[in-house]
Amino acid sequence: MLGRLAKWLRIIGLDVSYSNSAQDDELVKICRSEKRILLTRDTELARRAEKKMRVIFIEGDRLREQFVSLRGNLMIKPDASRLFSRCVACNTPLLHVNREEVEERVPAFVFDNKDDFKTCPKCQKVYWKGSHVDHAMKMLDESLFGAKEPSAEEKSPASD
Ligand SMILES: [Zn+2]
Repeated sequence: MLGRLAKWLRIIGLDVSYSNSAQDDELVKICRSEKRILLTRDTELARRAEKKMRVIFIEGDRLREQFVSLRGNLMIKPDASRLFSRCVACNTPLLHVNREEVEERVPAFVFDNKDDFKTCPKCQKVYWKGSHVDHAMKMLDESLFGAKEPSAEEKSPASD
C-alpha cells in the first residue's frame, strides 16, 4: 500500500526497505535488526510494534497525504544532490559509470545527449540526469514539501 511512497523516498535518497508480502512479525524483525523506522498504514501492526521500535502511522491512500503525515513526524528535506542516489527499484546505492559502459543499455538519443550516468550494481538499472530529475525536484518542492493547506479565507470567500 505504501509502494509509491517508498519509491519517492528512495528518489530523494533515503534508505528504504519495502515489502508488501512480508508478515507482520517478519516486518518487525527486519526493522529491529536493521534499526529502521516502521512506516505502516496498518493500525493493528502500528499498535503492536510501537512498544519495540519507532513507528510512524501513515495516513491517507494518496501520495500527497502520505507525505504530509510523514512530514509531520520526520524532518525530511529534498536535497538535489541526493536525488537519485539510490536505485528506485531495489534501494541499492548507485555508482557513477563511464558513458561508454552504458552505451548498449540506454536509448541512443540519451547516450548522445547525456554524459552523467549512474548504474545500480545489483539490478543493473541505468540512471541519468534528465528532465525527470528536474520534474522530481519541482514536484517535491511545490506539491509535497511546500504544500500549504488552503486557509479558511481561501476556502470560503467573504460574502457581504
Ligand atoms: Zn537496483
